[in-house]
Amino acid sequence: MSELTDLYQEVVLDHGKRPRNFGPLEGATHRAEGLNPLCGDRITVFAKLEDGALREARFEGSGCAISKASASVMTGAVKGKTPAEIDALFDRFHRLVTEGPAPGDEEALGKLAVFSGVHDYPTRVKCASLAWHALRAALAGQGVPVSTE
Ligand code: ZN
Repeated sequence: MSELTDLYQEVVLDHGKRPRNFGPLEGATHRAEGLNPLCGDRITVFAKLEDGALREARFEGSGCAISKASASVMTGAVKGKTPAEIDALFDRFHRLVTEGPAPGDEEALGKLAVFSGVHDYPTRVKCASLAWHALRAALAGQGVPVSTE
């Protein structure tokens, strides 16, 4: 367990400091802003949907290391997936951060599985989920900002 916790801290520090897929996305078909007032996280997610699958996702904004790391890993993990697959992935991810790891998580979630570390810090669940809420709102075509509150 401590190994996973170390990996979690490593990923959060690395992706929080040097987020991947950071910046505007040219030719984005969908976008939505996510706000987490409790922590002050504010993230805009851009998505390019083509032939029913997500070709690319990027994000910008500011927030704590966990919210940025989660957005950074998420934008890589959802590439090539359909909105239905992204919903299923989020369900599993959300269960992981709220209830803790379950069998099969590592195969299903890949790098996202390190966020099981969030499970020990309930106040961080919203930070870790923010980019997901924004992405799903973007894909659902809701133009209004989403808030975790
Ligand atoms: Zn946060």
